[in-house]
Amino acid sequence: MDLADLYRDVIIDHNRNPRNFRRLSPPCRHAEGLNPLCGDKLQVYLRLDDDDRIEDVSFEGSGCAISVASASLMTEALRGRTKAEAEALFQRIHAMLTGSEQADISAIGKLAALAGVRAYPTRVKCASLCWHTVHSALDEGGIVSTE
Ligand code: ZN
Repeated sequence: MDLADLYRDVIIDHNRNPRNFRRLSPPCRHAEGLNPLCGDKLQVYLRLDDDDRIEDVSFEGSGCAISVASASLMTEALRGRTKAEAEALFQRIHAMLTGSEQADISAIGKLAALAGVRAYPTRVKCASLCWHTVHSALDEGGIVSTE
């Protein structure tokens, strides 16, 4: 199995069995993300503890395989991270997806499975939607749209 197959399997797995696919009970932060181009619509919920560490994070919604798999992978990657660490990871993923700079993907684990969408500009919005949404939830919440 080569790396491309492995990455595809990760995306298929997380699309079929999304992790943390549920609503958090309040109190929690919440934001909604829309990608009208594809029809992806995500709700992201998170709860910070007293040290600004992400105690729990989850999502709900519907969308294409890339958007759901990306959100599932994201929730796994963010639990236990501080707000600052989450923002740093957001920047790193954004760099990886847009190829705007030499992205260091050595330290992002399974999230590297999304690197392949870089070659498909319309899919980049699908993969980054959950990240923009969690960014908004960490900030003050609300609705974010890719368009
Ligand atoms: Zn999509």
